[in-house]
Amino acid sequence: MTFSELNLIDPILKALTEEGYTTPTPIQAQAIPQVLEGHDLLGVAQTGTGKTAAFTVPILQLLHRSAQLEKQAPRRIRCLVLTPTRELAIQINESFGAYGRHLSQIRHTVIFGGVGQNPQVAQLQRGVEVLIATPGRLLDLMNQGFVDLRGVEIFVLDEADRMLDMGFINDIKRILPKLPTKRQTLFFSATMPGQIQELASTILRPNPVRV
Ligand code: AMP
Repeated sequence: MTFSELNLIDPILKALTEEGYTTPTPIQAQAIPQVLEGHDLLGVAQTGTGKTAAFTVPILQLLHRSAQLEKQAPRRIRCLVLTPTRELAIQINESFGAYGRHLSQIRHTVIFGGVGQNPQVAQLQRGVEVLIATPGRLLDLMNQGFVDLRGVEIFVLDEADRMLDMGFINDIKRILPKLPTKRQTLFFSATMPGQIQELASTILRPNPVRV
């Protein structure tokens, strides 16, 4: 199996080659075609499995495809990725940058707590298609009116079990109603205890693809 068998466009294949990737990991081989087809995903995967590229790569392709169709539309947040820690958020943002380096029209930025908000607000005000965020800072900036999630088409909840362990569940429950209900959702968790299954079933459409 190679990345070119996954129907990826040339600018993305080129970036993956530049990263030194030749073969998709199992989760990438399973997830990429499903995400490209617009399915919701329930991914049971640990860090280290290639999970990040499994969602960033097809999301970049989906956003690129429709950006071509609506060139005149104003910038809006079309993809929101929620992740529990600053380190993960930075890593995901870097992945969007690396795999999307030949797709110049897709802008992305990252917001997280523990640092001043002004540079993050400035990035948001320039306009981005992809926002990677930790829940507390996102809620904070939403409440100040700096983040509009009404245009979100793709929502990723990363490391759901860690979100729960870190006490982010109430923040997530406050963010969810601000997202359009008509959207594609990708839900990742290393483990699937009952509480996580319940959360998954409220966030995903019925019968998501399991990987
Ligand atoms: P992740 O599970 O997303 O945290 O990725 C783990 C590590 O594997 C990261 O350092 C990636 O850069 C790397 N990686 C992801 N996909 C591939 C691949 N298909 N081939 C080689 N390395 C990869």
